[in-house]
Amino acid sequence: MTTKKMDSVLAKLSNHEIIQKGDRAVHSRHELSIEILDCLVEIESRSIFLKEGYSSLFDYCTRRWHHSPPKAGRFIAAARCMKNFPDVRNLLVQRRITLCGVSRIAGILTDSNSDRILREVSGKRFVEIEKIVASLKIAPRTRESIRPIGLQEPAGGRVRSADYENLFQPNPLPENYQFDSDFTSDLGDLSGGNSQIDSPKEKPEHRYEIRFSASEEFCRDLERAKTVCSRSWNLEAILGRAIKDLLEKRDPERKEARRKKREARKQSKSRSQAKRRTRTKTAGQLATEGGAKGTGEKGSPGKGTTASPVRSRHIPAHLRDAVFTRDKWRCTYTSSLGIQCDSTAHLQIDHITPYCRGGDHSLENLRILCGKHNRLAAREMSLTNR
Ligand SMILES: [Zn+2]
Repeated sequence: MTTKKMDSVLAKLSNHEIIQKGDRAVHSRHELSIEILDCLVEIESRSIFLKEGYSSLFDYCTRRWHHSPPKAGRFIAAARCMKNFPDVRNLLVQRRITLCGVSRIAGILTDSNSDRILREVSGKRFVEIEKIVASLKIAPRTRESIRPIGLQEPAGGRVRSADYENLFQPNPLPENYQFDSDFTSDLGDLSGGNSQIDSPKEKPEHRYEIRFSASEEFCRDLERAKTVCSRSWNLEAILGRAIKDLLEKRDPERKEARRKKREARKQSKSRSQAKRRTRTKTAGQLATEGGAKGTGEKGSPGKGTTASPVRSRHIPAHLRDAVFTRDKWRCTYTSSLGIQCDSTAHLQIDHITPYCRGGDHSLENLRILCGKHNRLAAREMSLTNR
């Protein structure tokens, strides 16, 4: 039936009939998926794929059946799981678990835990299954990294469902298979059409992949930020905004720029006030024709009575920023062989001539050290025993 004909047929159906039609389609698709899994089990156990000229079951699924790689991976994982744990098939038949759910638990099922885990996941939604799987897995430590991945169209402010969903997967799937984002659709055509960026074409730009693991609280906050901002903000937009706000507050260069702006404003204000005063004074002088000339002159109150400065450990913010900027936010400790520490963690401002020995807050007397080298410097100067 052509799409046009199908559209006209569907248009004549009532809402109730459409719902029933959809339910029937999903039901038969589910049954079909079990049939495919049964076939896959046989194809693998008899090595049919090899005899047919395919290098692997994955090759068979992707080349012969035109399954997308994620879909092929999901089917294969589920088929193997079903073969090793027959109860999985029963759950599938009873529709107590989806194919996605099976592919998710496939990596953690063992003879000793299968009964318990299958009991736990039975009838659960995919997100709940993910939580169960996550609670049973010890996630490997994710190494933070930023790496260039080449030219790519910018994602703009829009959300790619795949990007977003993947972030909230508590644990990565087995290395061999990269499942896509359509968790709810077990057997739908996941040929990739739904993961395209829904934004106007933009010029490709250099893009980077950033990896890090995050706590549950971070994910909750991120989810909240997403809700607060707008669902159309993607992760890049949200985190980018948060980073910009943070830099606006903490970046010494920006603080210095603001300070200069403030000072320039103050100076221009005092200049215009001085001009106004001069104008008023001139007008007054003209009015009194030079009378009482000496009485209006003011000295400079306060100047002659400079209070002796109170010594304080507090290093003014502009000086701190200047030290950090000059030392490029790195520990400046250098060994006798000329090797510099270069650490960027736990940085502290150190007085070269210690404050307790009369060292001042001048730029020349201040430097950046990491906590460990600051303590070492103090030990070397017998300031502390730690
Ligand atoms: Zn150091």
